[in-house]
Amino acid sequence: MKIILLGPPGAGKGTQAELLAERYGIPTISTGNMIRAEVREGTPLGQKTKQYIDEGQLVPDEIIMAIVESRLAKPDCEGGFILDGIPRTIPQAQALDEMDLGDYVVLNISVADEEILNRLGGRRVCGKCGATYHVTFNPPKTEGVCNTCGDALIIRPDDAKETIQKRLEVYHAQTEPLVSYYEKAGKLINILSEGSVEETTAAIQTALEVK
Ligand code: AMP
Repeated sequence: MKIILLGPPGAGKGTQAELLAERYGIPTISTGNMIRAEVREGTPLGQKTKQYIDEGQLVPDEIIMAIVESRLAKPDCEGGFILDGIPRTIPQAQALDEMDLGDYVVLNISVADEEILNRLGGRRVCGKCGATYHVTFNPPKTEGVCNTCGDALIIRPDDAKETIQKRLEVYHAQTEPLVSYYEKAGKLINILSEGSVEETTAAIQTALEVK
């Protein structure tokens, strides 16, 4: 099972990726989580990418593709994987296609911009493992604490209102063209994410079973 999750920030890609990973026993590759970990640890890659994340801009394609290529080469990806937040541009999609990933599906999780602003305001993430929660729609078992690793939940700095607006603009300009890229390739499955997390999960499940 090889799945690419496409969709604007706040569509619920991270949450659905975690559920799919558990269900199919395959890893999630989240470029956002990987870069945030590098920033947190202050590595050279983190120092190079911090400003892009803070400003809601995309990290350059070459940096992203180098990270993803080495991650996909790890043995745990042999049985499949979920790509969350990659590709974000047409050149990234083309670079992935050149890597001969085999057969994959693209789930395009769509949600209106106004709803995104509501959702991202309540988003919380684990500072350590990157698991995603929402104060109302997907709360942790204990407030402020990650279910998986017990670490503290934080608000992502790029979830600030002005940065969200910038990220949405970047999404429409640079990432949305991927919808027709994958539609033309016959790989696209559209999922409307307007209800609860469970409803979106059920819609994804049905779509993957039909496939
Ligand atoms: P995300 O957690 O997927 O919302 O990503 C957070 C931030 O990481 C984005 O706003 C970008 O700055 C950076 N980023 C993550 N994935 C990519 C990608 N595939 N291409 C470029 N930048 C990315």
